[in-house]
Amino acid sequence: MQPEQPLTLDPGRPLRSLLGLLRPYRARLVGISAIFIVKDSPLWLLPVITAAAIDYVVAGGPLSALGVLGIIAAALLLQVYPTHILFTRAYMGIVRRIAVTLRNAVVARLQTVSIGYFGRTSAAVMQSKVVRDVENIELMFGQIGNPLGSAIVVFLGAITMTALSVPQFLPVYALTIPLGVGVWALLRKRSHRRNEDFRIEMEQYSRAVGDMAVLMPITRAHGLEQDSFTRVAERAEGVRSRGLSLDMVNGHFGALSWVLMQLLAIGCLLGAGALSVSETVDITPGEVVLLGTYFTTLTGTVMTVLSFMPVIARGRESIRSIAEVICEPDLEQNEGKRQVPDIEAGFRFEDVTVRYGDEPPALSAVSLTIAPGETIAFVGASGSGKSTMMNVALGFVRPSSGRVLLDGADMSTLDLRSVRRRVSVVPQDSVLFEGSIRDNITYGLDPVPDERVQVAIARANAEEIIDALPQGWDTTVGQRGARLSGGQRQRISIARALIRDPRLLILDEATSALDVESERKVQEALERLMVGRTTLVVAHRLSTIRQADRIVVLDRGRIVEIGSHDELVERAGRYRELWEMQAP
Ligand code: ADP
Ligand code: MG
Repeated sequence: MQPEQPLTLDPGRPLRSLLGLLRPYRARLVGISAIFIVKDSPLWLLPVITAAAIDYVVAGGPLSALGVLGIIAAALLLQVYPTHILFTRAYMGIVRRIAVTLRNAVVARLQTVSIGYFGRTSAAVMQSKVVRDVENIELMFGQIGNPLGSAIVVFLGAITMTALSVPQFLPVYALTIPLGVGVWALLRKRSHRRNEDFRIEMEQYSRAVGDMAVLMPITRAHGLEQDSFTRVAERAEGVRSRGLSLDMVNGHFGALSWVLMQLLAIGCLLGAGALSVSETVDITPGEVVLLGTYFTTLTGTVMTVLSFMPVIARGRESIRSIAEVICEPDLEQNEGKRQVPDIEAGFRFEDVTVRYGDEPPALSAVSLTIAPGETIAFVGASGSGKSTMMNVALGFVRPSSGRVLLDGADMSTLDLRSVRRRVSVVPQDSVLFEGSIRDNITYGLDPVPDERVQVAIARANAEEIIDALPQGWDTTVGQRGARLSGGQRQRISIARALIRDPRLLILDEATSALDVESERKVQEALERLMVGRTTLVVAHRLSTIRQADRIVVLDRGRIVEIGSHDELVERAGRYRELWEMQAP
């Protein structure tokens, strides 16, 4: 599912971005405002009724007038129930939809950012953005909608009614606005900064908890519970102190605005009373009460609006956090590039250099031609650039300089999504998702006939795994395939590759984590899988790559030897050393 509309969020202008979210709903918002004016009319009409009632009481009647006032007041109040429900449905409908739009926009964007982004950003932080930040924005719109609307209605109503009955008091209203704006401006910067600090601290806390969960088996195995706890607890302390600084800004804000507004309200009431007593202005007791009520309501609503500052600041920070992903520059640009219906999977690396950050290059000026259908093995010490080679071939890592040609076409001009439909990867530790084994094997394919699944399973040496399971291939494997052993997962993963019939096969230490017995079974399956496809393979145990057409020996990002197993052993170079080290 695509997000309904393209989102333009600017991390530099979060508030504008927030308002931009409402833009598609302009027409509905006008309708909602109309409902609102009716719904909140008691706020400014009731003081008028109260004032009239007081003046009738002072004048001693008539009684029937009070009855009429009572009926009007009851009608005004009763209509609030249905109109409020109507408002909630319309307004919250929009807010909830915006949240979905935001979530889908983030998730869709995560599908297009480079794989490198996932190396830099932890799963927990992404989760925090999609879940927590969107929730903050939702809460913000949800919490401020009604009170902000009320504030505006009361303000306009009060001004109108005052203008009609005691226009001399209009200038006093003008005071409330600059006061409110003043308090806001005074604390704004600090509030933004503290909100950002808090959000980042919270993301780091999420990351620490995520890391803890991932590392739990290692932690337990080494009796490192206390260290693991301390690591997370230190972050919790950070969240506490950042949270408290944020609370303090919010506290100052609340206190300052309350005191100022109450002073203003009481000053207005007493001022109106004094004017009435001294008879400088012609004003009835009812009107004194009317003004007093308006001021109280008015300052109350200005207060309420001011009290949104923390909520708005938090929403603003969350939109920035989301915009960070939406605007992530490290995108895999596939749009508009050439689609490749099929590949031969012949490669040509021309002076490919890859740098990650400031470190020495992971590959330096590597040139290599790989013929379609060839099996090429990469060997070398850990960190010599073997995985980087494979990631370049997959297009996950872009060369910092040099270029890679796939079947003669520069890979940077191809739509890599279409290329990868013809590629399968069997990594060291295959990940299965929670679902049936059959779903895992046919993941992402159109419905596949049972026979094809059966054949793939047989060729992957996975029949015995399926047979041992209670519901065969409909058995659900746990999260990340927890019900299966490493060797079993690898064979399922090979079946997944086989059924796709890929042109390019990437095996990065696919057997390295296995015991000898399952290694043999996986190796057999892999050999069947490799037939007739271009295969790039990295294997820890050299005996498993003897059959490769050519072996490339890497050392610190450079190719130091190329040749078949026999040639390289003959040459008495680097490969021979490695071979002899492993020879039984
Ligand atoms: P191998 O697979 O041969 O062990 P790699 O290709 O994984 O080696 O790594 C080559 C070098 O590049 C290493 O020094 C490694 O630390 C570095 N490297 C690999 N991937 C990344 C990455 N995503 N970010 C930063 N450095 C990386
Ligand atoms: Mg590696």
